[in-house]
Amino acid sequence: MNSSDETGIRDLFVIGGGINGCGIARDAAGRGLSVTLAEKNDLASATSSASTKLFHGGLRYLEYFEFRLVREALIEREVLLSAMPHISWPMRFVLPYHKDMRFESDTPTSKLLGVIMPWMKARRPAWLIRLGLFLYDHLGGRKILPPTATLKLKAAPEGAPLEARFETAYEYSDCWIEDSRLVVLNARDAEARGAEVLVRTEVTSARSENGIWYVETRDTETGAVRQVRARMVVNAAGPWVGDVIQSRIGLNSREGVRLVRGSHIVTKRLYDHEKCYFFQGTDGRIIFAIPYETDFTLIGTTDAEHSDPSEKPVCTEAEQDYLLNFANQYFRQTLTRDDVVWTYSGVRPLYDDGASTATAATRDYTLKVDRSAGAPVLNIFGGKITTYRRLAESALEKIAGEMDVEKGPWTAGVPLPGGDFPVDGVEALIAEVRESYPFLTARWARRLVRAYGTEAREILGAATTVADLGEDFGATLTEAEVRWLMDKEYARSAGDIVWRRNKLGLRLSADEIAALDQWMQAARAAA
Ligand SMILES: Cc1cc2nc3c(=O)[nH]c(=O)nc-3n(C[C@H](O)[C@H](O)[C@H](O)COP(=O)(O)OP(=O)(O)OC[C@H]3O[C@@H](n4cnc5c(N)ncnc54)[C@H](O)[C@@H]3O)c2cc1C
Repeated sequence: MNSSDETGIRDLFVIGGGINGCGIARDAAGRGLSVTLAEKNDLASATSSASTKLFHGGLRYLEYFEFRLVREALIEREVLLSAMPHISWPMRFVLPYHKDMRFESDTPTSKLLGVIMPWMKARRPAWLIRLGLFLYDHLGGRKILPPTATLKLKAAPEGAPLEARFETAYEYSDCWIEDSRLVVLNARDAEARGAEVLVRTEVTSARSENGIWYVETRDTETGAVRQVRARMVVNAAGPWVGDVIQSRIGLNSREGVRLVRGSHIVTKRLYDHEKCYFFQGTDGRIIFAIPYETDFTLIGTTDAEHSDPSEKPVCTEAEQDYLLNFANQYFRQTLTRDDVVWTYSGVRPLYDDGASTATAATRDYTLKVDRSAGAPVLNIFGGKITTYRRLAESALEKIAGEMDVEKGPWTAGVPLPGGDFPVDGVEALIAEVRESYPFLTARWARRLVRAYGTEAREILGAATTVADLGEDFGATLTEAEVRWLMDKEYARSAGDIVWRRNKLGLRLSADEIAALDQWMQAARAAA
């Protein structure tokens, strides 16, 4: 086991508090390595809060023959679901079929079909979708999630919001994940196992001397500069992985990252049931429409090249129109920009595999150890939320090539904070919390259990009335919860809370959010 206590030298310095950095920090800390992680902004402030929020195999990747990735992700869905039944849950996806649906023209499948069935002219035949779903059902050792079914849309409630031309649909399983909470819970668990987690801390440079890294950090709030020594650096900077390679560490690496922006729009709830839609376009792309935060529908995503990571990704008007027009090909109701209540956008840091289009670039991950500076750096390219735990295991294999790591893989089946209850136990837990705290409304109790699982009770403590929870910030957000988020979950500003620790920003007014921020800054000053 590596210990840095006498020398002050850490085993690992992880750059980046997205899902990959936090997942690696947790795994490494649990194996006894000494770890410091620095995140320049808030945890999950970049790509890891801007995903479609699915633990999924990625049905469409089958058309790219990405069987390794799909199989790993399919198996992983259930491993993850069991370890975090509060922030992840099963979802059914309804895929309406129409004969005019087309492939993107350069997928291996569409090229193959173009040779053997040229008369299809890049249309996706129904048998191919059924074959894809058969593989999806069977590649990944599914035990918890129900299998594919066929729906007759004229009779099924899932057909009601759709245009009449859709008569048949296929329904399959994947899982929802609260992406930014996943990141924070990994960071908390890493810290509980001995890691140091620094937020608002930017890595400005790193140099190696006699096989040791000297990493310089700057506190982005106070400007304080600190130096940390480490045996190995893990570059999990997501969209900035290239920036860290070139500008912060100065490696002479040719590995590249391809930045692909993806945007989502949120509307008021568009239909009454709890299933998602998987819509295929005539351009070969797909989008999802997903029930979101009880009263909303989430629609996404786009695929657009994004050249500069320092340029904040936003959902452009053209992307909004694209998503609205796409959804309008399916829904009876016509959506316009007036229906959009919120948008968000993120940048996928994909490994540059030279693919022709953004849609075709691989979603698989690539880990590369670079020793050109003297001490080792592990650069992380690509990956998905779904494969973060497996990516961390692969990272630890690489790390074990550089130093002694005595413990083997351990994270499968180990619950994240608050996730220590049965995978089908959410309703029972909500009922128990309501019984102990009868002043909570059903919606409020559900929100707390979905966010904090068994830890909801710790937040509520000995409260017997709403007033016992302190200041009321609106939309069921109280001082007790805000203090928990500041003390235990690294929240520093109102934005950290209302857009990442929860999504109450959809319900709170700008004035309420500003008041929360003022309160938090005063509380921090008083601490
Ligand atoms: C639109 C979209 C939809 C997606 N949907 C899904 C999905 O449904 N399911 C799925 O499995 N995956 C999905 N993904 C993929 C997934 O979100 C990403 O692969 C994953 O979030 C990447 O995590 P990361 O930790 O590598 O990067 P990030 O989350 O971007 O984290 C990198 C962090 O490094 C920090 N950083 C950078 N430079 C420095 C520095 N110098 N010092 C300190 N910190 C630094 C940044 O601030 C950032 O927080 C989606 C991605 C997008 C964009």
